Amino acid sequence: MTRVFSGIKPTGHLTLGNYLGAVRRWAGEDQHRSDALFCVVDLHALTVDHDPARVRRLSRQAASLLLAAGLDPELCTVFVQSHVDEHARLSYVLECVATDGEMRRMIQYKEKAARERERGGSVRLSLLTYPVLMAADILAYGTDDVPVGNDQTQHVELARDLAVRFNQRYGHTFVVPRATSPAVAARVMNLQEPVSKMGKSDDVGPGIVYLLDEPDVVRKKVMRAVTDSGREVVYDRKERPGPANLLEILAACTGGEPAELAGAYDSYGALKKDTAEAVVEVLRPVRERHQELCADPGYVEGVLREGARKARAMARPTVDAAYRAIGLLPPA
Ligand code: ATP
Ligand code: MG
Repeated sequence: MTRVFSGIKPTGHLTLGNYLGAVRRWAGEDQHRSDALFCVVDLHALTVDHDPARVRRLSRQAASLLLAAGLDPELCTVFVQSHVDEHARLSYVLECVATDGEMRRMIQYKEKAARERERGGSVRLSLLTYPVLMAADILAYGTDDVPVGNDQTQHVELARDLAVRFNQRYGHTFVVPRATSPAVAARVMNLQEPVSKMGKSDDVGPGIVYLLDEPDVVRKKVMRAVTDSGREVVYDRKERPGPANLLEILAACTGGEPAELAGAYDSYGALKKDTAEAVVEVLRPVRERHQELCADPGYVEGVLREGARKARAMARPTVDAAYRAIGLLPPA
């Protein structure tokens, strides 16, 4: 059976981008067709300036939102990264096959490091090495498929490269994974800045739809989305990023095709109105289920405890094998 692994960082409140690009697929076909693990990757949230209490709070919230979005602990494994030591254990070994040049070429490192410097902060070493830890997250489980938005494809490529390199040098140890992205909404853009990705740790709040936004807030944000001065509604991601983003969101929420949908509208106002309603309807069940789960924190804790136990047992043999292959003496 195909092994699937993916994760989400507790760096902010989950967004529509996270949902359409990743989480919705995890809860849909991924958990049904495969042996899947989904993880709140909390160690990754420590790579930029962070508040410990907030990371803890967001980790709990992310886990409960994953369940609210439909992940079923009977079908898949849901857990928190820092509860399974194997991730950090394997990360160090993979640092010994990765190069510093490879890390410095990562687009997200360049962008996030620039942002930290702009804010007058220093860049944590873990921000540079984060893709190696992500490779460890993936490789520890013998993962075949990594369902992600397309901003993560470079990192999954790195995981592939490290797996191939390790296997060549030290003998076959890792399955070589591949990224899978959705056909539409693989990169949902910020509604106020449609040339930038909608990211949960970004500052442009009015352009970000959060999964827990009230319906009226969602409507307001979508109705105020930046478009352009064009008169016709056409789907052109490059030249017309604002309308294209709305069309992709609408298509992802209703199951249509962005280019076809464009033909059905003669004004941006009507497009925005339908998009807003489609988003409200897609998010409604997630918000409602999340409210129910908030009333039962013991349930979420239990899922995470059991998830960590299962994940540990799955990761251990591969990480032990990597330790032996690279030359570390097994404990007596
Ligand atoms: P951050 O700003 O802290 O990096 P993020 O919103 O990018 O947060 P991640 O935790 O980095 O979220 O990513 C979780 C998953 O959501 C990944 O699979 C990522 O590819 C996907 N994703 C993130 N943003 C978008 C987006 N705007 N459109 C589609 N998929 C997205
Ligand atoms: Mg991200």
